[in-house]
Amino acid sequence: MKTLTYKYCFNASDSGDIKIAKSLILIISICCSFCGLVWSGIYYFFFGFGLTTLLPLIFVVIVISSIFISHFTSNYKILVYGQLVCITWVPGFIQWSLGSIHHSGFVIAWCFLGPIGALLFLNEKEARIWMVMFILILGITSIGVPTFSMDGLKVTENARTIFYLMNIGVPSAVIFSATAYFMKDLIKQKERNFSLLQITNEKNKEIEKSLKREKELGILKTNFVSMVSHEFRTPLATINANSDIILRYSDELSRDDINKRLEKIKSEVLDMTVMLEDILIIGKSDAQKLDFNPVSLDIVSLIKDIIAEYQLSEPKSRTIIFNVSTPIIMIPADKKWIKHIVNNLLSNAIKYSGEDQQIEISIKKEPTGISFSFKDYGVGISKEDIAMLFEPFYRGENVGEISGTGLGLVILQKALNLHKGKIEVESEIGKGSNFRVTLPAV
Ligand code: ADP
Repeated sequence: MKTLTYKYCFNASDSGDIKIAKSLILIISICCSFCGLVWSGIYYFFFGFGLTTLLPLIFVVIVISSIFISHFTSNYKILVYGQLVCITWVPGFIQWSLGSIHHSGFVIAWCFLGPIGALLFLNEKEARIWMVMFILILGITSIGVPTFSMDGLKVTENARTIFYLMNIGVPSAVIFSATAYFMKDLIKQKERNFSLLQITNEKNKEIEKSLKREKELGILKTNFVSMVSHEFRTPLATINANSDIILRYSDELSRDDINKRLEKIKSEVLDMTVMLEDILIIGKSDAQKLDFNPVSLDIVSLIKDIIAEYQLSEPKSRTIIFNVSTPIIMIPADKKWIKHIVNNLLSNAIKYSGEDQQIEISIKKEPTGISFSFKDYGVGISKEDIAMLFEPFYRGENVGEISGTGLGLVILQKALNLHKGKIEVESEIGKGSNFRVTLPAV
């Protein structure tokens, strides 16, 4: 029987819910038909052969044939409707043939399975129609005087008890155990489907994530190519032009002029080397290979040394105002990375402000460590740009002709992550910017 049920219910094209509905209706139909046979037998025992005995048999015939029809037409709704009609009307007729509700015991309770079944297999609107039909039958059989059979007159109290057991107890028990037996597999399958769905969802999320990463990498690549072609072209052109002039006109040029041109070439090569180093750091940090060796050091003198060194390499000097709260502040830090942070903040403050504008640097001891800020009175940064500053290759919309790679702050952020530090930016277009870095003491 189980094999038959599976053959009937498991069409490859059916969805999980349809399979469950089909299995349920099949189980209910078979159980009801079985009950119909018993039903008919018991009526025969009480009333002999007649309409009351025949009606449960009609029930069985209709239900069984609708099973076959719906199997061959692949339309299980035929079975649902066939079953509902039988459940609702056949007991109604039996009821009537027995002689109204007062004589038939609980046969009418069967009819109530109609609207309940409709609720299970159809939508709520259709189920309501079946409910109305049930009330109609109840009304007819309560009021109507039986015209085509008087079997009901013979029903005794004991017979009613037997009808009760037969119509309510037995089918309920049979349907319940049969459903439990068949549903076990279905529930297992549903759980399996559910866990498969969860796995698929997780896989989809992973795919989405890698697609996003792939997209980001694509953007990064495009930005990288345009940055390299832009930022390397100018120094290369300068190097090319100056070396050309030196080669061609070395006899006519003064020693001083040649030295200046060589200096220019050297500084452009240096700038390009820094750019290449930045790109290498970005590549390395993606693979999480950045080396970090913190040692306890005095951050105040370190920052001052880095700035002095930077100023030495800069041809034009700038007024830098220092504001230091404590002369010596010891924190664990990696000198190499602090140099990156300070050089970037200082070079940006110089780059993005006018030659006559001062830069203010404050170093403060904080309860949890140290903070230092670089304030300039330059071009400033818009709110929209501030939100994007730490994205690779991102540059503010107001940078104009000022050269840059959009990598400095990204590297700075990575250096801060290594130190478990943070950075805050305050800026207003045309008024200047203040970058404040906080580093913990431990
Ligand atoms: P780069 O300066 O090479 O473009 P950075 O990563 O150092 O790259 O800076 C990213 C962007 O942040 C810059 O292009 C600029 O738009 C903005 N920015 C950074 N510092 C300042 C500053 N002090 N004043 C104005 N804009 C700044």
